[in-house]
Amino acid sequence: MFKKILIANRGEIALRVIRACREMGIASVAVHSTADANAMHVRMADEAICIGPPSSTNSYLSVPSIISACEISGADAIHPGYGFLSENAEFVQVVEDHGIAFIGPSAEHIRMMGDKITAKDTMKALGVPCVPGSDGGVAHLQTAQSVAEGIGYPVIIKATAGGGGRGMKLARDAAELETAFRTARAEAKSAFGNDEVYIEKYLGKPRHIEVQVFGDGRGNAVHLGERDCSLQRRHQKVLEEAPGPEIDAETRARIGATCARAVADIGYRGAGTIEFLFENGEFFFIEMNTRLQVEHPVTEAIFGVDLVREQIRVAADLPLSVTQEDLQVNGHAIEVRINAEKLPNFSPCPGTVNTYHAPGGLGVRMDSALYSGYTIPPYYDSLIAKLIVHGRDRPEALARLHRALGELIIDGVDTSVPLFHALLQEPDVLTGDYNIHWLEKFLEGPAPE
Ligand code: ADP
Repeated sequence: MFKKILIANRGEIALRVIRACREMGIASVAVHSTADANAMHVRMADEAICIGPPSSTNSYLSVPSIISACEISGADAIHPGYGFLSENAEFVQVVEDHGIAFIGPSAEHIRMMGDKITAKDTMKALGVPCVPGSDGGVAHLQTAQSVAEGIGYPVIIKATAGGGGRGMKLARDAAELETAFRTARAEAKSAFGNDEVYIEKYLGKPRHIEVQVFGDGRGNAVHLGERDCSLQRRHQKVLEEAPGPEIDAETRARIGATCARAVADIGYRGAGTIEFLFENGEFFFIEMNTRLQVEHPVTEAIFGVDLVREQIRVAADLPLSVTQEDLQVNGHAIEVRINAEKLPNFSPCPGTVNTYHAPGGLGVRMDSALYSGYTIPPYYDSLIAKLIVHGRDRPEALARLHRALGELIIDGVDTSVPLFHALLQEPDVLTGDYNIHWLEKFLEGPAPE
């Protein structure tokens, strides 16, 4: 087992990894920018090293600084968290070339899933259901037209190098296709340096359902059911829950087995998420994320498994500590993402938190790096806390969420908490009757205060 793990990240996810290290008896090394000198992850780790100025390009994204920090501290493994360098195949290569273990999949698998056309081709060949669309990239307008005629309008044009909800264009009919095709290519070129695009059928009212998989890198894999992350604003998830309100045990077992078999077949190592759109009882693969997800705690809650611990185990060549038979769904969990943002426009709202009081009690988990007196720096993501509740069933989890939100105090900055109070008043949220467009439509209505 590793002796010391360096966490190439900040905020709540750095704390999350430090917690797993501590329970496993592994020393932890925090890295931080000058803006994060007083951050909680720096205080909580066994050691901390400053790796650069505030801008993440020169700190949390600086490969030479992170490798040097590893060498100075003598860390034998790196956990990348999510975001930053977590899905950067070149980084993984450099880490491994330095004889340091990367807690995540191989560079080859990251590369394979990072290119969306390759990812889709691979998944299709592994028997995973995909959205109907073009066979690979589409370079000419005529080809785009015949593909779109073939699958039927509306269609969506997506960049193979895309990510973060960017680089997608909708074409409702043949007249819109030409402009959509040209702008998608031009935007892909300028945003990702790669103008390759592909075409998919546009699904009107799908849910976003993602399956958590875990491989040991030796051809064994399990699945940990699904999460429903349909409540999104600008393709960013806002509330996630597990299990999915519309997914029954038989469906879960079937799609889960398909996903586990797929990752086992490619010898995948570590945590992964296979994302689908789900409409009329059918799953359509859209992409695979080769890292721990922000919303992983809802899965941990209902399966009682520490996913970071499993990540560390398989990176150290140990087998998974659970079998598929061990993995039984227990109750229902919901996570809300609390951002330092001012409603109704969700504009970033960094500043000093005068008072912070986290909710507690049965079935309540607060993953946050906040403390009273902490100043949230303006340079990074606005996520400041994740509140996760677990109950015996969905109504109990909802009641617990309502209760826990009432206990939470974050005083001094604006947060997205009022949105969740408002959502808990909505009949569709209470019954779980929503799709990926529901939240955007809700936000067009009168603003939550
Ligand atoms: P990214 O990597 O940029 O997040 P995804 O392929 O995961 O891109 O898609 C992001 C979101 O875009 C999805 O969650 C969904 O809301 C929407 N989307 C993607 N593909 C389709 C499609 N074929 N039909 C309808 N909506 C889609």
